[in-house]
Amino acid sequence: MSDRYTSFVNSPMGQTIAKNLGLPQPVSLDRYTLGDALVSGTVLVGQAAGGSAVSAIASLLKSANVSAATLADTDLEAELSKSSVKVTNVAADTSDKFKAVVFDATGIEEAADLVSVYEFFHAIARKIEASGRVVIIGSTPELCGVKKRTAQRALLGFIKAVGKEFKKGITANLIYLEDGADKNLESTLRFFISERSTYVSGQDVRISKTIANKVDDWTKPLAGKAIVVTGAARGIGASIAEILSRDGAHVICLDIPPAQEDLNQVAAKIGGSALPCDITADDAGERIAEAAKAHGGLHAIVHNAGVTRDKTLANMDDKRWNMVMNINLISQEKVNAYLLENNVIGKNGRIICVSSISGIAGNMGQTNYAMSKAGVIGMVEGMQGELKNGITINAVAPGFIETEMTAAIPFAIREAGRRMNSMSQGGEPVDVAEAIGWFASPASSGVKGNVVRVCGQSLIGA
Ligand code: NAD
Repeated sequence: MSDRYTSFVNSPMGQTIAKNLGLPQPVSLDRYTLGDALVSGTVLVGQAAGGSAVSAIASLLKSANVSAATLADTDLEAELSKSSVKVTNVAADTSDKFKAVVFDATGIEEAADLVSVYEFFHAIARKIEASGRVVIIGSTPELCGVKKRTAQRALLGFIKAVGKEFKKGITANLIYLEDGADKNLESTLRFFISERSTYVSGQDVRISKTIANKVDDWTKPLAGKAIVVTGAARGIGASIAEILSRDGAHVICLDIPPAQEDLNQVAAKIGGSALPCDITADDAGERIAEAAKAHGGLHAIVHNAGVTRDKTLANMDDKRWNMVMNINLISQEKVNAYLLENNVIGKNGRIICVSSISGIAGNMGQTNYAMSKAGVIGMVEGMQGELKNGITINAVAPGFIETEMTAAIPFAIREAGRRMNSMSQGGEPVDVAEAIGWFASPASSGVKGNVVRVCGQSLIGA
């Protein structure tokens, strides 16, 4: 969908006008395309005393062949070079700029230690390139004693403020690591320091300790896997299908029979298969299982199909209410139950849901939609503890994404939704798709029960 304002303010005249009038100045965001380096620049690494994540950071930088820098910290430089990372130690007042910054804060034990976060980021606050990445790795607060929990939880306020302050398309996110989960860090850190997470900011993600599944080829982490994507005929679903296919999966694209022409086109473009099926049909689970059989079983299902039928509650008829609840929530519960009871989803499989920031914040005229999408979050939280065989469940909660769904919103509300975030622009379907690719990766076995907003750090429900 077109965002003429963003194109305008990125023209020389538009830039001057926007600056003088104090208007939002969205920058053009970097997005990943196949063949791009993981990071198109240097990654600055920092550490609070006593941290335990540096060796996991080093192993990623080495395997991705990324150059690193340290800031007046020869001990850290030595530690990274010991792991064969290409690293340079730079002075605190360096004029160098960095594409990504990763700070290991796992060693922070109490509030007084937080000053090390200030000291490090104060020195480099103006040294991050446009579309840069700030990532802090902390310890999961709920698993810490009171003093450490307090300090670790404090990091989230810092990250959210950085996400709002640094501008220029710079994102800031926090990865909370369970003790001993270092081997499960790589897929998540890869996502957050790369261009794949361009519209994800102000988020905290928890990584649990579990079996770490290796990926042989990070450009094709889903090779040999079959994945069903519901609502794949257009919009976000079509983009999810494309990205999962790019990452090596055979994608079974599911949508309602009236959308079959578009569905066939999406499936043909990516060499996937088309499954015309209403996800609310009684036999939807069976149909999915049947389609997966031909591809050696199912690695993952992405519950993307969703609809809005907005009306204020007083004006809402039961048809609108039931349609939204059935498609957006109840069908997911039924299909999950069928797939799990019949062992259709394989070992280390994935259930990935699409919620919405409307399910977090609520929205005028969307009692049905907000309730269904909040229910999706409840389902993720509830099911995670019950899943076996390494199967995980996670959800994305998109904010304003440029699709036909949001193009139908009245102009003034649409424009407000688009601008009220740290990026001052809407996201693209591919931004949601990339987050789903990260959840789907076999290497993401430690990513469980997370709800990650893909919203450019929208102010709504933050
Ligand atoms: P869209 O309307 O463009 O596409 C939705 C697709 O789902 C359509 O192809 C539709 O035919 C299909 N679908 C609807 N009912 C179905 C059913 N019963 N069975 C099978 N398929 C069905 O919407 P979108 O913007 O691409 O949204 C995709 C998902 O993302 C939805 O769950 C939506 O709620 C969520 N979301 C979107 C935004 C946004 O800004 N676009 C924001 C938050 C959440």
